[in-house]
Amino acid sequence: MFNRADLEEREYRTLSRLGLKARDSEGRRVFEEPDPLRTCFQRDRDRILHSKAFRRLQHKTQVFAAGAGDHYRTRLPHTLEVSQLARSAATTLGLNPDVAEGVALAHDLGHPPFGHVGERALHARMSEFGGFRHNAQGLRIVDDLEESYADRNGLNLCRETRLCMLKARMPIGFPRATDLPETATPFLEGQIVDLCDRIAYVCHDFDDALHSGLVPWRTFAATELPSVALDSLVQRFPALREEGPPDRSGLIRRQITSAMISMLVRDLVLSTSSYIDEHPSLRSPHDVVDHGHVACQGESMRLALAELLRVLRQHFYRHEAVLSTMHARAADLERLFDALVSKPDMLPSRFRRRVAVHGLERTVCDYVSGMTDPYATETAKRLTDPNARR
Ligand code: MG
Repeated sequence: MFNRADLEEREYRTLSRLGLKARDSEGRRVFEEPDPLRTCFQRDRDRILHSKAFRRLQHKTQVFAAGAGDHYRTRLPHTLEVSQLARSAATTLGLNPDVAEGVALAHDLGHPPFGHVGERALHARMSEFGGFRHNAQGLRIVDDLEESYADRNGLNLCRETRLCMLKARMPIGFPRATDLPETATPFLEGQIVDLCDRIAYVCHDFDDALHSGLVPWRTFAATELPSVALDSLVQRFPALREEGPPDRSGLIRRQITSAMISMLVRDLVLSTSSYIDEHPSLRSPHDVVDHGHVACQGESMRLALAELLRVLRQHFYRHEAVLSTMHARAADLERLFDALVSKPDMLPSRFRRRVAVHGLERTVCDYVSGMTDPYATETAKRLTDPNARR
């Protein structure tokens, strides 16, 4: 068997000079005795996976309102897909796969119900109280809101994991942990997670867009990534021609999606590896943070990915059927927020206790943003519909 010391030793022997090593971690905010078997980064990953916020991802929307169909993605499968891509890309690059996996599992924890529409609605309601952004909220969850231990709030994660979660700048006035900077370039493992997140959601939203019937194949036919993927598939498997166009054949649609993901991840690994080779002055994980972005797509894949994202924005994310559902739900969220601010005694007791320390609006925001889509809809109805039973 391998105990923690063996695993730490193995990291030194097998990881690249730019990969984070558990033995060099700056540690946790509150000191804890190390685990006898797991490295600190493996322990972070396990804590994230076992958190309540992680379980709620299964009922949070990615693009469609969660529950709109059996096979559309919510944030849980999206998160697991990102984690698989990031772990395998990190492993190939000699980076720390446990950090990549943990950060990927945590990357969407702070999303409120109803996706980006919900995020904008909460940010507007919180404009005078420090705003709202999902990455900042993700840190607030792991640092404070999760209640798993008798002696402290939060998951007490390692500083490296938290810095990777910080990524974009926090809104001005957002209550951040005092030991974190306002913004930081993530370690290379965090950068890989960011790009894998983009690869995963663009490819899977393409899949969901076709599957939903809202966007026909002809809208994508002149777009480089899916058309190159389809051409190469038909060359390898000529019988696929008989299956019909990708919006009629689930098999072809899934094969195109899978081929696009493979092309993009391979390009990410090769381009990042070349970038590292061209910059021998990068010698440690902290050099990466000082240097800026190292993980990258090659120029042609970067442009192709941006093109596909543009088509999705125009024809899927802004499709009337998607927006009308999401806007109606965002209005529920606003009504719910307002009802709780005007009647704070309707907050659960664990949140009522937080009001004196964190302020009423921030507490309501923490409570509401943690809800799943169906729970937010049901609670809005219960609290704001005079005919609903209380
Ligand atoms: Mg994501």
